[in-house]
Parts: sequence; C-alpha cells; structure tokens
Amino acid sequence: MFKFFKYSISIIAIFVVLVIVLLRVPSVQDGILNFAISGLINTDSPLVKDDALSAIVCGSRSPLPNPDRAETCILIKAGNKVFIIDAGDGSASNLRTFGIPFEFEAILITHLHSDHFSDLQDLHLGSWVSGRKEKLKVYGPEGINEITEGFERAYALDAKYRYDHHGDQVLVKKANGYETITLIPNQKPFYDDGFLKITAFLVEHKPVEPSLGFRFDYKGRSIVLSGDTIYSENLISYAKDADVLFMEALSMDIIGRLQKAQEEVGNLRNANIMFDIQDYHTSPVEGAKIAKKANVKHLVYYHLAPAPVIGLMETVFTRGVSEVFSNFTMSDDGTHIVLPLKSEEILISNLK
Ligand SMILES: [Zn+2]
Ligand SMILES: [Zn+2]
Repeated sequence: MFKFFKYSISIIAIFVVLVIVLLRVPSVQDGILNFAISGLINTDSPLVKDDALSAIVCGSRSPLPNPDRAETCILIKAGNKVFIIDAGDGSASNLRTFGIPFEFEAILITHLHSDHFSDLQDLHLGSWVSGRKEKLKVYGPEGINEITEGFERAYALDAKYRYDHHGDQVLVKKANGYETITLIPNQKPFYDDGFLKITAFLVEHKPVEPSLGFRFDYKGRSIVLSGDTIYSENLISYAKDADVLFMEALSMDIIGRLQKAQEEVGNLRNANIMFDIQDYHTSPVEGAKIAKKANVKHLVYYHLAPAPVIGLMETVFTRGVSEVFSNFTMSDDGTHIVLPLKSEEILISNLK
C-alpha cells in the first residue's frame, strides 16, 4: 500500500514538473493564450431568441455598497427591441460580462438620483462603438435634459479624440450624443409601435419630483417597474393584473440595525443617513401588500437596501412577506425572467 502511494506521488511530481517545463515553451504559451482569447470572444447572447417579453436584472442593489452587485438597472426585451431602465454604477460592466450586445432601442430613467443614471455615458459610448447610427434615445422625467446635456459636455473631448482616431467608418459622427425625451407621467403610453406599449406613471419619492415607474405591455404579457417610491396607490393602479412587478425594497429592520450599530461606534453622520433613507422607500412587506392589491402574478424585489450578502440576511429581509404574498423572488444581478407569449408561464433563471 505504501509502495503504491509512493509510486503515485512520484507520477504526480513528474507530471507537475512536465507542466511547469511546458508552460515555459513559447509555442505552448501561444496555443493556450489563443485558445483562451477565442473563448473570451463569446458571440452567444443570453437574450431570449423567441418572440417574448423578458427582463434581465443588470443591477439589483441600492446605493448601499455590495461588492458583488451593481446599482439599479433592468433590461427589458420585447420582441427584438431592447430597453435599459436605469443605469446605476456597475450596470454597464454587468451587461458586458453577461455578453449582452450594446444595441438598445432606448434608455429609460425613472428619476434623477445618480444611482439610476451614473453609467449612462458608458451605455452611450458602448453603443456608439457597437455601431449605433443615430443619437442614443433617453426618456426620463423633467430635468433629464440636464443630465444628458451635462454628459455630452463633460465627454465632448473624449468623443472628439475617439472620432479623430477611428473615423466615420467605426464611429458615426452624427450618432454621438443623446436624443432626449422628457416624459409627462400618468398619460397614455409614450411608446407604442402597435405591439409594445410603455407607460410612465408617477410614484412617491419626495423630495425627488417627479419620480417615475414604468409599465411594459407586449402581446398580452406585462412587466411593471416601481422605480423608487414609498407605498403608492398610483403604483397599485398602474401595476393592476401585471405578470411581473419589479418592486424596490428597503428593509427597515436591517437598516434600523445598521443605524444603531453606527450610533454605537459614534458615527452619527452614517447613523443619520441610515435614518433619513427610511422615509422614501418601501419595506418588503409593504411591497408585498402592493403586489397583492394590484393582483400581480409574480413579485420581484430589486433596488435592495441593503442587498443581502448571506442567506440569513435574505431571510430577515423578507420576514413576513410570504404571509402577505408568497409568489416572490429576491433578485440578484443576472436574474433572467422570461414571459413566453400565449402562455401564463413565468420562467426564472440566472445568467451567472
Ligand atoms: Zn431614488
Ligand atoms: Zn435609488
């Protein structure tokens, strides 16, 4: 037995030495690197190919930090059209990691807190480099033009340098910049191509005014996004009978504990921030009440404050929810929801 063990160790040792020697040979290095590079250039898009309404969470957290998640971002695909709703920090990077082409019909911004638009310029540059032929369409609430005009101004030299270097064959000059559309909420759909209707409605996130939610209706399937809000009757009426409600959520319980912990170490500044943020978001149980009243089929929590880092935290975050509304999912970055047409099915997976 000992002899066999000794023999096995010798074989492994020889193998390890052989690998180390081979890795020093340039032709072996070239072969491995070329193989890795061809693997990196992944042309497979995870976007659903069938005619359907679908959503990918490209950012699931609130501004409270979490190293594994991006700030708020939801991709909606209706037929062959792709919309990005909000683009917080890290969301553009997530889209690249997931292998999603930067070909967008438009970007929709719910409100003008920076955790909802800080990656907008990255989406602009990424889609310009990907061959966008027209300016990037951005829909948002009153004041959205200040954001897009500000980005255009801040990045004017960057755009010039890139254009001067690559030329019109790569970067279409007239496509640089934004086409900005200011939305008037609680009206008929602002987008209607005969199949897809998108409606903007008011939610309550004072002092941010206006703050919007969006409803997507496509060939009998529907997805609603709450945006940032407290408990809102208007959200309930616009979410009526939707297949999926993406609902923002702040755990008053966990944030209260964080506030107390900051107080205990004497960090009153952070404790005050933890206190302040509780009055303009919705608790998970309140979100469940909204879902129940609106009679939605499935509830997905996003814009998580704080985004749970362990299962126990998620259990505390959702405490009391299933007593009100049991059909719910805590989103993560990469959560993928597909609503096939002519069906009641809601398929949930994760791209990660
Ligand atoms: Zn906000
Ligand atoms: Zn927010």
